[in-house]
Amino acid sequence: MNQKIKFFEQVNKNFDIAAIYTNHPIGLLKQIKICNGVYHMTFPLKRDDGSIEVINAWRAEHSQHKSPVKGGIRYAEAVNEDEVMALAALMTYKCAIVDVPLGGAKGGIKINVRNYSQNELERITRRYTFELVRKNFIGPGIDVPAPDYGTGPREMAWIADTYSALTGGPLDALGCVTGKPVGQGGVRGRTEATGRGVYFGIREACSFPEDMKEIGLETGVEGKKVIVQGLGNVGFYAAKFLQEGGADIIGIAEYEGAIYNAKGLDVEAVFQFRRAGNSILDFPGAKKIPDSADALELECDILVPAALENQITMKNAKNIKAKIIAEAANGPVTADAAEALLNRGKRIIPDMYLNAGGVTVSYFEWLKNLSHVRFGRMSKRFEEDINTQILKSVEELTGKKLPQNIFKKIAHGPDELDLVNSGLEETMISAYHQMREIRLQHNSEISLRTAAFIDAIDKVAISYKEMGIFP
Ligand code: NAD
Repeated sequence: MNQKIKFFEQVNKNFDIAAIYTNHPIGLLKQIKICNGVYHMTFPLKRDDGSIEVINAWRAEHSQHKSPVKGGIRYAEAVNEDEVMALAALMTYKCAIVDVPLGGAKGGIKINVRNYSQNELERITRRYTFELVRKNFIGPGIDVPAPDYGTGPREMAWIADTYSALTGGPLDALGCVTGKPVGQGGVRGRTEATGRGVYFGIREACSFPEDMKEIGLETGVEGKKVIVQGLGNVGFYAAKFLQEGGADIIGIAEYEGAIYNAKGLDVEAVFQFRRAGNSILDFPGAKKIPDSADALELECDILVPAALENQITMKNAKNIKAKIIAEAANGPVTADAAEALLNRGKRIIPDMYLNAGGVTVSYFEWLKNLSHVRFGRMSKRFEEDINTQILKSVEELTGKKLPQNIFKKIAHGPDELDLVNSGLEETMISAYHQMREIRLQHNSEISLRTAAFIDAIDKVAISYKEMGIFP
């Protein structure tokens, strides 16, 4: 990753390109763009061997035009203030694009998780939460973190527990963080939500014959050759759902190297192989690519960077062969590289839309925590009874019996997972249509990213105009 590229500058560059197409006052645009607050904290960690280490961590709250603010917490060695602010800004725009009524935030701890034991990671996470509580940077109505690179349900459970302990266990305490395990107030479908959303977004982008014709591809996901970078939470699920949707995952890149098989790789098998402690390079039946970055430049239809930012820069943009670059990670393509790719006729599905499935389902989880009831609990049986009565009436009227499996499938009342996945699908489809419509209104002369930014800027600006400015 190129450390010299300033991520927040990249986000703002894209913002400025889109702002030209809006007619909001310049002062308001500046206010929307700026990061409202950043908290840089340092605290000591007592390591397992008794030594003391200073930990650097941040939480950035980009925009409180809606409350609470929301965004993941990242554990990575490259975490810095600029990155956290950039990611917080992307959260603001992301929420606006998918109509999630929250502001944007992001947190990060500058550590390489591989260098710490589970106990040390727990102490770091709990101390970080303590620092956030002390400064009022966390709470169900203030700021609600979620998982991001290097974190998952385990860390979110530690955060919820620490918050609850420190604040005397208020009624809505579980709403202080999302992405928790289901047994700790999480919602079914959250773990795979970002990857599932990436699949829905790509499927939608591939569903318009005229759009696909523009870039020389056939309509539909089926049969598309895909390369995925990063087999973590987002990359694994995106690859898995794309494969289930009929695409061939021909390449997978991880940090230790990449693998390739023109006939397609079994995503689940590769994931389990790596999870068992093996290097991806030893996966049987695939071609080894020792330099992982080389995989990005291979021939394919869709490239899905799902690891980290600044992976496609001016250095390698000219070598990218994929026709669609689906930004599953945040900021994987720099602004200059994106321009170069667009000039070469590539289609970029922008991060702030494509990976918004995570925050969408996090929003559902937060709603669940505030309402203290599982989605579908009150209506599942009722709907199932009604559907059964309707089907029985149809059978009586027609004198024909439906096969038992079809009867059951139609009669089935939705449970939590059905409702979450359906809400996610609806969100990703309608947000894509909004973004595409804006691009069409500009005679397709702007990119999908610029269209997404126009959409986000307009929504945040309307919010400011309606609520006014305090005092
Ligand atoms: P993760 O930690 O689960 O997975 C990241 C994977 O990328 C890891 O397996 C890691 O080994 C791999 N990786 C790191 N550097 C690499 C390199 N140079 N080449 C190839 N692989 C590399 O993280 P995640 O949650 O999947 O997040 C990935 C990206 O998606 C980040 O940009 C994150 O901000 C974004 N994102 C995540 C979520 C979420 O819900 N988790 C939501 C929205 C956006």
